[in-house]
Amino acid sequence: MIIKNVNLETVCGITSRLPENELPEIAFAGKSNVGKSSLINGLLNRKSLARTSAQPGKTQTINFYNVNQAMYLVDLPGYGYAKVTQEIREKWGKLIERYLHGSKQLKAVFLLIDIRHEPSENDKRMYEWIVWNGYDPIIIATKLDKIKRSQIQKQLKLIRTGLNVKPGTQILPFSAETKQGRDEIWALIDTLITP
Ligand code: GDP
Repeated sequence: MIIKNVNLETVCGITSRLPENELPEIAFAGKSNVGKSSLINGLLNRKSLARTSAQPGKTQTINFYNVNQAMYLVDLPGYGYAKVTQEIREKWGKLIERYLHGSKQLKAVFLLIDIRHEPSENDKRMYEWIVWNGYDPIIIATKLDKIKRSQIQKQLKLIRTGLNVKPGTQILPFSAETKQGRDEIWALIDTLITP
């Protein structure tokens, strides 16, 4: 995909009405700090369009990036913040569920996992929860540049078994530093949004 123009078109909080878009949507989920903003910025060739993490009290929203007036990249709120109350966590959950159930244009959900670590309990829960809500997540293993080349296959296997993914699930490694994996992710997105 050649990025001609990008625009953060809609930002939805827990009380917002979600947009009824006409264009295909691709969503990204992952725990905070996994590299979701960096991935979205990398896919869109921007340095800091998507919010970067580790800002305490950062608002949790679903952000819709219109790409080339052709599709949306949808940034779902990160999970796993230690400092957040159960009540707020439940509200985010409801917001994401509302989106997963309500969107008529959502073609796929990508779940981001740090390639260095075995999936956490939160990651496993998120994977199962997305499946429960009707989507088979595609996995992006982030921060590829942080491990040795010789470790890649072993780590990908750890993610596959740790999440107990469905057979045939794709796991794509990506580095926001080197942009390795970017073309493969776009190639996959292109097939997912092509009618
Ligand atoms: P988010 O909370 O999921 O949006 O995570 P961010 O994109 O803000 O990234 C969290 C931290 O990890 C930041 O310090 C990033 O610079 C770093 N980071 C993200 N992706 C990569 C990557 O592919 N390689 C390296 N080396 N660092 C990364």
